[in-house]
Amino acid sequence: MIDLHTHTTASDGSYSPTELIHLAQQSGLEAIAVTDHDTLAGLDEAAQAAASVDIELVPGVEFSCKIPVGTLHMLGYFIDQGNPDLDNLLTEMIASRAQRNPHIVVKLNQLGYELTMADVHAQTNSPIVSRLHIAQAMLQRGYVRSIDEAFGRFLGDTGSAYVQRAEPSPTEAINAIHSAGGLAVVAHAIHLRAANEKQLTARLTELADLGLNGIEVWYSEHSAELTDQLWRFCRKADLAAVGGSDFHGSAKPHIKLGLGRGGLNIPLEILHRLKSRLNRR
Ligand code: AMP
Ligand code: MN
Ligand code: MN
Ligand code: MN
Repeated sequence: MIDLHTHTTASDGSYSPTELIHLAQQSGLEAIAVTDHDTLAGLDEAAQAAASVDIELVPGVEFSCKIPVGTLHMLGYFIDQGNPDLDNLLTEMIASRAQRNPHIVVKLNQLGYELTMADVHAQTNSPIVSRLHIAQAMLQRGYVRSIDEAFGRFLGDTGSAYVQRAEPSPTEAINAIHSAGGLAVVAHAIHLRAANEKQLTARLTELADLGLNGIEVWYSEHSAELTDQLWRFCRKADLAAVGGSDFHGSAKPHIKLGLGRGGLNIPLEILHRLKSRLNRR
């Protein structure tokens, strides 16, 4: 079994790359993709740890894209490190977070919650500072009882302290991933918030026309019906079907590596198919 969607302390996960690989080994996984938000900083350490325990590491990344409705996250797989186009985008994303985060803190202050950027930075050593870190800082101060509550009331896109940040268009994200030799895959399609299958198909067709390579079909939050719709779309549009848990460690304790909320169990064959697509490019 494998897991093609995981986060480390290089972004907003709670396991270091080495700890994640060791957990993967203990969990009996044969391959794992590290897909941190907007950074490749965990990949070298993960590769080294993976080599020592005979686990295959897929170098990955996850971008958030700007779209009019819903949330679109783009996974990049098998990306080369040191590609200038990808590096430029990654650098811009660090700036976009640094720009946004103090605005969120000010909004929280205005709502009567005392919180500082120092509280937020205390949650991570990484330059990637995510809303999850802000949620953790709020939890620590006792302003919310759970991370979910922090997003529901304050930090999610309908929350009272939500602030948008600069994000690439889907085209920019796909092109940067392709420029770095990688495959671009839509993460957790459920968050596209398509109202029905027709709308879902229309949105995915647009992305396929931009050069999308695959879809994360198997994901804990996907219903059997959505999974089936995504699988059929992949067949029809000749896209790779992949799956992963979106593991974050203790930040999302209900999500288990390789298993998600339970029986995710992605077979190694899915990675073989993804790789054969990479070789055909
Ligand atoms: P950012 O990229 O800084 O805007 O933060 C987005 C991150 O917050 C995502 O990668 C998730 O890890 C996390 N996140 C978003 N929505 C939720 C939620 N409802 N519950 C928990 N974590 C969330
Ligand atoms: Mn995250
Ligand atoms: Mn995501
Ligand atoms: Mn993710």
